[in-house]
Amino acid sequence: MKVLLHVCCGPCAIYPLEWLRSAGHEVTGVFYNPNIHPFKEFARRFETAVQWAKGVELSLMLDDAYGLEEFITLVKEDLKMPKRCAHCYRIRLRNVAQKAKTGGYDAFSTSLLVSPYQQHELIREIAEEVATETGVAFLYHDYREGWKRGVEQSRELELYRQPYCGCIFSEQDRYYKGAGRLLAHV
Ligand code: SF4
Repeated sequence: MKVLLHVCCGPCAIYPLEWLRSAGHEVTGVFYNPNIHPFKEFARRFETAVQWAKGVELSLMLDDAYGLEEFITLVKEDLKMPKRCAHCYRIRLRNVAQKAKTGGYDAFSTSLLVSPYQQHELIREIAEEVATETGVAFLYHDYREGWKRGVEQSRELELYRQPYCGCIFSEQDRYYKGAGRLLAHV
């Protein structure tokens, strides 16, 4: 099948691409991630995805528009997880499915399904909704079986590995431990 693979970042896409190719699929990638903030982080993940794709000879559709305003507008009524993440998954997967439809692909898939830190069942549910909406099949596979393998390969390739999920709220969750911490060091 001709498959359009959503690439959330280079390291996460390593195993999904390997699995899809080994299953005989013809794969094209697409980088569309308006959820990555701030801009320097977005640029770094974008450049890493491009670097990785060149190395594995993957044709990668690129969208380098920085989506901070688009994303904040989308999630402003639902800042907490899991509702925030549901919006985040949907906007990306809908975009990828629409590109798959326009480009005549048989199916779409996503590297988000490799991570044990993502909400796997929610991603699957939303991808199936989007498949119904667009009429393009969703190729599901539980890529988590290859998570460790992807981590090891990304380290061997010296690819940048991000320290938090992506949005500015996940950066806060990763680093901000509450008021008073900074004052304690003044
Ligand atoms: S935590 Fe991750 S999945 Fe959830 S909204 Fe932020 S970037 Fe998206």
